[in-house]
Amino acid sequence: MQHYCESLTEYKRLKTKEVKIGDLLLGNFHPIRVQTMTTTDTMDTLATVEQSIRCIEAGAELVRITAPSKKEAENLLNIKNELRKRGYSVPLVADIHFTPNAAEIAARIVEKVRVNPGNYVDKKKFELIEYTDTDYAEEIERIRERFTPLVKICKEYGTAMRIGTNHGSLSDRIMSRYGDTPVGMVESAMEFLRIARAESYHNIMLSMKSSNPQVMVQAYRLLIKTMDEEFGECYSLHLGVTEAGDGEDGRIKSAIGIGTLLEDGIGDTIRVSLTEDPEFEIPVCKDLVKRYVSRVPAAGNREPVPKLEKIAYDPFSYQRRKTFSVNNIGDHHVPVVIADLSKIEKITPVHLQSIGYTYDAATDKWNIGDAAADYVFTGHQLLGFELPGTLKVIVYPDTWQTASDKTTYFPIFSDSGFAEAETKSENLNFVMVDCYSDHKPVYDYSFLEKMAGDPTVVICLSSTNNNAVQSVRRMFAELIDRGIKNPVVLITDSSWQTPDEHLIHFATETGALFLEGMGDGICLGFSSKAQMENIKATGRTYLEVKDIYQFANNTAFSILQATRTRISKTEYISCPSCGRTLFDLQETTAKIRAVTNHLKGVKIAIMGCIVNGPGEMADADFGYVGSGPGKITLYKGKEVIKRNVNSEVAVEELINLIKESDAWAEV
Ligand code: SF4
Repeated sequence: MQHYCESLTEYKRLKTKEVKIGDLLLGNFHPIRVQTMTTTDTMDTLATVEQSIRCIEAGAELVRITAPSKKEAENLLNIKNELRKRGYSVPLVADIHFTPNAAEIAARIVEKVRVNPGNYVDKKKFELIEYTDTDYAEEIERIRERFTPLVKICKEYGTAMRIGTNHGSLSDRIMSRYGDTPVGMVESAMEFLRIARAESYHNIMLSMKSSNPQVMVQAYRLLIKTMDEEFGECYSLHLGVTEAGDGEDGRIKSAIGIGTLLEDGIGDTIRVSLTEDPEFEIPVCKDLVKRYVSRVPAAGNREPVPKLEKIAYDPFSYQRRKTFSVNNIGDHHVPVVIADLSKIEKITPVHLQSIGYTYDAATDKWNIGDAAADYVFTGHQLLGFELPGTLKVIVYPDTWQTASDKTTYFPIFSDSGFAEAETKSENLNFVMVDCYSDHKPVYDYSFLEKMAGDPTVVICLSSTNNNAVQSVRRMFAELIDRGIKNPVVLITDSSWQTPDEHLIHFATETGALFLEGMGDGICLGFSSKAQMENIKATGRTYLEVKDIYQFANNTAFSILQATRTRISKTEYISCPSCGRTLFDLQETTAKIRAVTNHLKGVKIAIMGCIVNGPGEMADADFGYVGSGPGKITLYKGKEVIKRNVNSEVAVEELINLIKESDAWAEV
């Protein structure tokens, strides 16, 4: 194992222990399974059965159903029987928080139970408690007593279990000792896992979910390392980003978190949590998983990129790679966005609307949006109109030579072209490097030395290698090892077909690197013009794309937002809803979004219930949490500000709260 995965330089699945869930086998190189969770009331048997069937027909291989108390746990039997009667044998999973009694009933009925170690036995009152080692050991003993009966039932009935840690619902005990850190998340699961192992129960998988992809990725990596060091083996892993939200943002956040891990061969089953109907989660899962079906290297396959024996960065914590700045790129600057308009025959001011600039003829001024690209790449084209002052243009060297305004136009070279060029910009030169596209046993890095330390050079990394993320990451490792501090722009093209596939491709390939502090800019493009035209006409799509350039530009900004490297809009942390939900989450999220989507940088959590609410939105500035039928509790951070507000006026009250907190802005 290399730190947390089988290989840092090629795609290799992590070997994990096999889990049997009914007839479904998972882990130990079985295909990555896709799953979802119902949003209906568990006591409504028919609605739950019908929604489960919609999920199964969409491709779900496991369906999770909430069991908040004994009566819902008991009703799982009716749901299961009805599904089996209708010919559906997909395994069911009971989702448990707080109620060991419900878990013990459910474990005798369904094929798998999920327990949350943060609240299965432990307290969650947001109290900071000083534990001596003896107190702490006594608490673990208390957990052992309360958790062991469930383990024994699972063993007896052949029921599988997921120990599902949530970043936002860690127990007071874990929070007091470790804080809400990846280390705390890992320890929370390990305590339960040790108890299960002591009972020789191994039909277990684990998860480390968070709404922040960075925390989530670090926690999974750390968990693998910890299991490997302590047990010499890894249990299967269920991947997910919690409260990812809906639409494009929900898909991007999920793809960044889940995709980053899948790229490293980590993950045996995935769930994409969207604030949408659960059957819509399945195509996103499938799009994520299919990227790896043909990626498994055959026996004797050649090494695609040079091996990496040690890494000069810490994969368990975030640190942006140290760079100097060139113009507004690198060092302390937020990553820049470069819009690729090179496939447009004649670029006009109208095209700039797609990338965040609107021209106002009355004032003869450009309005610049929060998601306005910083640079455009136009290929061989010089623009015949006055540009917004903040926008710069990148062109090929021969075209750059002919540009009269060398403060707006900058050249982009190939690596060999740069070394040979007689004329270069005195301020800013972009240099393209295709990382490890041609396999060479000994890779020649001499081209790097030619630009290393040149204060005008921004390196643009891309890769046509099958293991593109690994290739670019390997090149970053080389830059770090050689002390090269030039800023780097990540260039990613997509040759997929549908908007959904493009979105997942872009988010996975660039997000994985931004999460590791690698990247000072982003440029997204498409492999061919025909493919770009095709994107609008494609049949199977869940995202509507009216304007391909706007799509690429918005996706770039959303990736930066989701990796928290550049904030350009309001952030919504909304739960996917489940049988505990106390209001219409989709409708409410849309309503809140409509009135707050201009509040750049403000994080709003929208949670269906109080059970996990305050904890799961740990990261939010404001929270809107269901606290009873028709009742909402409003939070500022983790503090309750207004309790049990009538849901009819709750959105208005939320706005008042944001205003009182000086976080409001008029449109
Ligand atoms: S926060 Fe949402 S998804 Fe989580 S348990 Fe409550 S209603 Fe269900």
